[in-house]
Amino acid sequence: MQMPRVPSPRGSIEPKIFTSEELEREAQRLFQSIGQRERWDMRICRAISPLTLEINELKKEKNVFLIAHSYQTPDIVYGVADSVSDSYTLSKAARDAPEETILFSSVRFMAETAKIVSPHKTILHPSPEAGCSLSDGITPEDVIELRKKYPGVPVACYINTTAAVKAECDVCVTSSNYLRICERLPGDRLIFVPDRFMGKHVQKHLLGKKEVIVFDGECEVHAEFTGDKVISWRNRMASHGVDLQVLSHPECDSGVLEESDFVGSSELLMKEAMRLASEGKPDIMLITECGTAERILAESEDEINLLGACVMCRHMKRTQLEDILQALRDPSPEQIIEIDDSVIKRASKSLDEMFRLAE
Ligand code: SF4
Repeated sequence: MQMPRVPSPRGSIEPKIFTSEELEREAQRLFQSIGQRERWDMRICRAISPLTLEINELKKEKNVFLIAHSYQTPDIVYGVADSVSDSYTLSKAARDAPEETILFSSVRFMAETAKIVSPHKTILHPSPEAGCSLSDGITPEDVIELRKKYPGVPVACYINTTAAVKAECDVCVTSSNYLRICERLPGDRLIFVPDRFMGKHVQKHLLGKKEVIVFDGECEVHAEFTGDKVISWRNRMASHGVDLQVLSHPECDSGVLEESDFVGSSELLMKEAMRLASEGKPDIMLITECGTAERILAESEDEINLLGACVMCRHMKRTQLEDILQALRDPSPEQIIEIDDSVIKRASKSLDEMFRLAE
């Protein structure tokens, strides 16, 4: 699989001084835990070791729980994170952690979701500029307009939305429960925002039962993949006797999903890839962001051949160790998530409704 290059440091932050023994021990730890010996070699691990050492020290000193989305880079995932998963699981981890301060290494809307579910905690978000084409593609005013145009029709929003958008919707959904929840909404019409691909899957799923009005947003990463590319890879591999297993994320187009052997969230894709490899089916085409591929390569105990090319999310890769260190040392006001109480209250209603309908 074609992987993106290791990001080069951008920050000018001066790391703390450690002894050469401490640095060497830390570099060895990083080298082992990242587990990608060619791309993250000892030279790179030595270069980042002062940063990871100080971050881990500050986490303990300041009692901070550091969570990272699967799409973050391996130095964050394996070097400093206390919990790594998909956005919704991480929000629950933020809520359940005993620490009163959570540092969320990811894009902005995920840190906002953590604040909605744990409003009394301090949520640090090291890269305030890290957005998302889905969450930034819709505003609360867009939802208000849709409600005016289709009065009384329930609005379901994907979790990849800002707190302000969630506050205008009736129910929030994730990539693991969106079909089930949309099916359970009352009435014979519903509005789905903001992902047009997921909206299309809902339309197909509810064909003949409900009319689904879909907003026109998309994830710029998953929009890159097409069903034709999958078919051509499958045929090419089959002609060489390779039984390619195609695993994709539901943010992809229907054409991709139809050609896939398995569709699921990042966590489910990882589990499925590892299950297939353990059963002697190691040739896998993974259709999602590159971070999931990096985690599979680092965590699988069996040999896996990831074929095709992953796509990197530029927003997810904005956060670097320097940003995390700076936010831990002395967060700027922009790095602390603040959301109006009334927005939190209304947005949490749409999350509560999700729990109720997902049961
Ligand atoms: S991968 Fe797509 S949905 Fe996820 S943060 Fe990037 S742009 Fe947004």
